[in-house]
Amino acid sequence: MKVRLPKIPLRRSVTKLEPYLPPVEGRAGKLRLDFNENSVGCSPAVLEALKRLTPEQIAIYPEYEATTKRLARYFRVRPDEMLLTNGIDDALHVLMDTFVEPGSTVLIVEPTFSMYRFYAQLAGARIRALRYEIEMRYQAETRFPEEQVLRALKRKPRALLLANPNNPTGTLITLDQIRAILRAAPRTLVLVDEAYFEFAGTTVLPWIRRYFNLVVSRTFSKTAALAALRLGFLFASKEIIAALRRADSPYPVNIAALVAAEAMIRDPQAMRDYAEMIIRNRAPLMNSLENMGGRVYPSDANFLLVDFGKVGTRMVARLARQGILVRDRASEFGREGFMRITVGTAEQNDRLLRGIRVFLDSR
Ligand SMILES: *Cc1c(COP(=O)(O)O)cnc(C)c1O
Repeated sequence: MKVRLPKIPLRRSVTKLEPYLPPVEGRAGKLRLDFNENSVGCSPAVLEALKRLTPEQIAIYPEYEATTKRLARYFRVRPDEMLLTNGIDDALHVLMDTFVEPGSTVLIVEPTFSMYRFYAQLAGARIRALRYEIEMRYQAETRFPEEQVLRALKRKPRALLLANPNNPTGTLITLDQIRAILRAAPRTLVLVDEAYFEFAGTTVLPWIRRYFNLVVSRTFSKTAALAALRLGFLFASKEIIAALRRADSPYPVNIAALVAAEAMIRDPQAMRDYAEMIIRNRAPLMNSLENMGGRVYPSDANFLLVDFGKVGTRMVARLARQGILVRDRASEFGREGFMRITVGTAEQNDRLLRGIRVFLDSR
């Protein structure tokens, strides 16, 4: 893609930025199994809370203290160990602005959430990218390259960004592996992004009191079904949170997100029920996709990485014409076939499987 730049010079890091392809538009009304969102919709309690917003609340700048206190209690941390952000995207931006200088090294393990590379590049960082090991020929399996990460940490990169479970591979890094990393890297900021933790059930959030170099992120975009309102969280020692606040914008989170979040945490069982339903549906969907000829990678998240080989890209396009959206991931694996499919309700998964059947039968 050729981009015409304005005559006014841009920051070097922006000039060099790999063009970011924004999420597609026009997804409303379709079966959206492409972005790992909650596939049912937000709780009615959220809509009720939004309706109760007053003109005064909307006219004044948002205040954070009371909601932060209640959210901190929900997450079992102290308010000064938590930062509210405009989604994890914004959290990454603040982390980079606070810790990463042009020329600092940022370590990532790909394929992973593409915003890690994006915000590191924007900050002018040098990116050191390792790869998940992906078994493509025999059994479907992905592996976190622990040895390589430990070796790369010897060069003291400024930051290491990890998604756990990882998107799009679904790989879970074990607590032992994370402990080894945190101990090996006292001079490296280690982000453990737990965007999908509800589907995996393990967390290192309590470790922020034990490891000064650990930052944990969470989001209300996935299980909590608030993606459009944009609310994320960073957790770390109070010293790191204080440092992040220095670089943060004054009002990153809007009042609608605050009110919605309060409604969500008043009914935590709703989030747990959704996560349990998705976990229950994950294995049957995996089996069905395998029976249709897909190679499915085991996942600890609310999505599956599936390899349909040569027909993959055509299948994704054909499903889209039937109003069924899944995410083509061919570009991240160097060959066609890979797609990422969000696990939905039993009915949604059935509709997906019928769509795949129609495609396979029509060839
Ligand atoms: C979806 C996702 C996020 C979400 O970010 P928000 O900006 O909070 O919506 C963060 N990290 C990973 C790994 C994700 O897959």
